[in-house]
Amino acid sequence: MSQEHQQTIETVADLIHGANSVVVFTGAGISTESGIPDFRSAGGLWERYDPEEFTYQKFMSSENSRKLMWQLAKEFAPVLENAEPNPAHQAVVRLEEMNKLVCIITQNVDYLHQKAGNSESKVVELHGTMRYIRCLSCGQRYTAQEIQAVLEDGVEIPECHHCAGILKHEAIAFGEAMPAQAMLKAEHASKNCDVFIVIGSSLVVYPAASMPVVAKRSGASLIIVNREPTDLDSFADYIIRGSAGEAMDAILKSVEQRMDRA
Ligand SMILES: [Zn+2]
Repeated sequence: MSQEHQQTIETVADLIHGANSVVVFTGAGISTESGIPDFRSAGGLWERYDPEEFTYQKFMSSENSRKLMWQLAKEFAPVLENAEPNPAHQAVVRLEEMNKLVCIITQNVDYLHQKAGNSESKVVELHGTMRYIRCLSCGQRYTAQEIQAVLEDGVEIPECHHCAGILKHEAIAFGEAMPAQAMLKAEHASKNCDVFIVIGSSLVVYPAASMPVVAKRSGASLIIVNREPTDLDSFADYIIRGSAGEAMDAILKSVEQRMDRA
């Protein structure tokens, strides 16, 4: 670890130690360290499948599109099921234990923050979740595991057990509206926090990527932890390049040392 890097970690730890309200914003980069591939990266899912096939409009109007979607879901379900939270997720749990965490705004649909031990109420899933599936007619909710069992029995397009309606993951599809409640909660938290930490997002997907801007304009310190440069680097107060797990663990250790001393 370079001296400059270490200095940034210490400065960020000071900021968090002095803060009452911290918002964490996470993207695919936090979950790649848990073995979940980034769909958008080279070699990712959207190079093997055509994203045009998975728009909300196609899903609703075409049986073939639904069949493809369930094929993909069936293939991907074991990856999600077996993925374990990594030290970056654990660091965010430690922030909640310190009573500093307002919420986690996540672009991820993998449920790893809840698996790590963050409270359900603290996780704002801007793009929904792959953990649950809902009937679009009667609203009945199923777990991904329940539906996976149906898929493994050979059913190609599962339907609602109660009303035979169309089932869909609670993860939003391309072209589908963002969940309104989650957007409101994310915006409110971004406007009212002292420190806003981006972990593992290249900040290119809007409107999610507008949250750090909202936070910064409302007076929060903006910290970006990401392997690659992001579109909002010029906007950030502190940038940490490298592994999310290593960086977040180092930051939290520093904050904990300060709290022990206090
Ligand atoms: Zn139904």
